[in-house]
Amino acid sequence: MSTQAHPLGVSFEFFPPNTDLGREKLMGVRDALAERNPRFFSVTYGAGGSTQARTLSTVQTVRESGITTAPHLSCIGSEKAQLRDLLHQYREQGIDSLVALRGDLPSGMGGIGELRYANELVEFIREETGDHFEIAVAAYPESHPQAPSFEKDLENFVRKMNAGANLAVTQYFFTAEAYFHFVERARALGVEAPIVPGIMPITNYTKLARFSDACGAEIPRWIRKQLEAYGDDSESIAAFGEEVVSRLCQRLLDGGAPGLHFYTLNQATPSLRVLDNLS
Ligand code: FAD
Repeated sequence: MSTQAHPLGVSFEFFPPNTDLGREKLMGVRDALAERNPRFFSVTYGAGGSTQARTLSTVQTVRESGITTAPHLSCIGSEKAQLRDLLHQYREQGIDSLVALRGDLPSGMGGIGELRYANELVEFIREETGDHFEIAVAAYPESHPQAPSFEKDLENFVRKMNAGANLAVTQYFFTAEAYFHFVERARALGVEAPIVPGIMPITNYTKLARFSDACGAEIPRWIRKQLEAYGDDSESIAAFGEEVVSRLCQRLLDGGAPGLHFYTLNQATPSLRVLDNLS
């Protein structure tokens, strides 16, 4: 997804800000992270197209850095015609990378749409635009929360890769072994594309715990206990989080991970501190 890559193959994910202040702050974050020559930036997308316009405008802002920027695109709740329009709009604007997802419908929001799973979205993108886009998809080393079993989820992941994805980015996790096990199993089923670990810097325990429950990422007990003990002491949480996440990243890279994808939550410092700790 880019030209002068960071030696570790890093990438950074943003969400579309919804205030002027957020947009201004993101420009500073983008510039600080662009200095590390990431392979790409990416910008999330709300299910059913809820952030469609803001995703596109954020992609435009982030691309001003000269770094390849991939919009996320989710299919749940959308009709093919809407997705087709968006794909053609992206292509016309010179965007050539996408993160293709099923997404999650917020409760009470409309119907499922015409494409039910990410593999169908990847097929649709290939049908509509051939090889124009480099397509990344999501992977779940600790299993997707709705998956009936690890094996079924892995099968579904392989189907999604075989539909024409070029790389996978994982949900975040804190147990390196879960990643290595997933990659080994995917390789045994013929997946050759890079599977890049998704990294969540730890800065706020309450938010992390809530988010992890929702997305099925496990916070190991020893990390939870330590973070709980810090209470409102945000400096200690950040220092401990930095140490834990830096060690995780080093283990992943030493074990052959092809890069690191940071869930930045639109902050530069936590990801930069981790990167600075890596050899
Ligand atoms: P899928 O791959 O479709 O899988 C969803 C579930 O269905 C899994 O349990 C899987 O086992 C099962 N399944 C898959 N295919 C089939 C099939 N053919 N038949 C039967 N079962 C099947 N969400 C957003 O709303 N916006 C974002 O921008 C966003 N970005 C993300 C980026 C990354 C890197 C990751 C890891 C997640 C992101 N998410 C985002 C969250 C994601 O949308 C949710 O995890 C969602 O629940 C699943 O999306 P998916 O593309 O992994 O779905």
